[in-house]
Amino acid sequence: MKVLLVLYDGGKAAEEESRLLGTIQNKLGIADWLKEGGHELVATSDKEGEGSEFRKHIVDAEVLITTPFHPGYLTKEVMQTAKNLKLCVTAGVGSDHVDLNAANERNITVAEVSGSNVVSVAEHVMMTILLLVRNYTPAHEQIISGGWDVAPIARHAFDLEGKVVGTVGAGRIGYRVLQRLMPFDCKELLYFDYAPLPEQAAKAINVRRVDSLEDMVAQCDIVTINCPLHEKTKGLFNKELISKMKPGAWLVNTARGAICDAEAVADAVNSGHLGGYGGDVWNNQPASSSHPWRSMKHPLGGGNGMVAHYSGTTLDAQLRYAEGTKTILHNFLTGKAQDPANVIVENGDYVSKAYGKRDTKADERKEEVRTD
Ligand code: NAD
Repeated sequence: MKVLLVLYDGGKAAEEESRLLGTIQNKLGIADWLKEGGHELVATSDKEGEGSEFRKHIVDAEVLITTPFHPGYLTKEVMQTAKNLKLCVTAGVGSDHVDLNAANERNITVAEVSGSNVVSVAEHVMMTILLLVRNYTPAHEQIISGGWDVAPIARHAFDLEGKVVGTVGAGRIGYRVLQRLMPFDCKELLYFDYAPLPEQAAKAINVRRVDSLEDMVAQCDIVTINCPLHEKTKGLFNKELISKMKPGAWLVNTARGAICDAEAVADAVNSGHLGGYGGDVWNNQPASSSHPWRSMKHPLGGGNGMVAHYSGTTLDAQLRYAEGTKTILHNFLTGKAQDPANVIVENGDYVSKAYGKRDTKADERKEEVRTD
């Protein structure tokens, strides 16, 4: 069997740190195991364009493994060249880099390591909310550059206490963010999700469901996006929806960059309509050096909480998604059924309920508690 791994190049850092498993150097820790099983493994970071190693090797690979941090974009067009492809594994969470409808047409299974980095991301969301609301970044930059001037920082610094916070998507990450917000004594916690939380889970964190996204964002001081990227969420935060947000509100997106319109977000930050925007996900990765989210800035300074995509790839998370990837591969090789919680599409249909509200066999499955 030929397995194609598309991972980022970890360079010297990955040579020195073997726990950087999601790199071409350390190959998710599965290289020897696959070799012993007589399988062929190709690992590459070269993924863009027709002449890339990704495009060359996808042609006869049976399994594609890629991370969302450096995704091999498996479009319908690329999939058509992948004659032997049976399984795509996302080493992490979020399989939008695969055209899932095209995978269904081709009967290709797409699986991910559900839950593997949800705490890692929820912690990053908390950090980003705090650094935006408290205006941390310009304060830190001022200190590093030798300055000391409190007023220009404090004029745009607030407390999280007493604010209204809402999440778009209250699945594994969204729920964990709400849980972590509880001790901050926010005025109210809200969520928008077509799938309601189990009653007990909602009660435990005192969160209120809002039926309309427009209504929710209009009530929030802080909005955090925690839903997958699919047809219904692509470009969801456009100029119109952002205009419905409270003036000075903060927007945090660690879900997927393409859920937001890049120019609309940058305009809203640069004009001061948004107090700030932060996260780690970009509409195309790696992001171009001229991407507007690199340079956007609130008129009072700060307001930019962007970093490269790493919230879900802490060393702790890498261990979990590497182990989970091996289990998915082992199941595939031995004909064992996959854990349904890890399956996005299989046998030509959606198994996951998280990639949009649609009429699928997933709807017939017993309601699962998604906050586990
Ligand atoms: P999950 O499946 O547990 O929860 C997703 C929730 O979003 C579900 O409750 C679903 O009903 C809801 N949803 C789907 N479409 C929606 C819509 N249009 N409006 C409102 N809610 C909607 O997934 P999760 O583990 O919480 O992860 C969520 C997403 O976070 C992933 O799909 C991925 O894109 C992203 N993620 C990012 C990183 C990172 O490193 N930045 C890491 C992990 C996951």
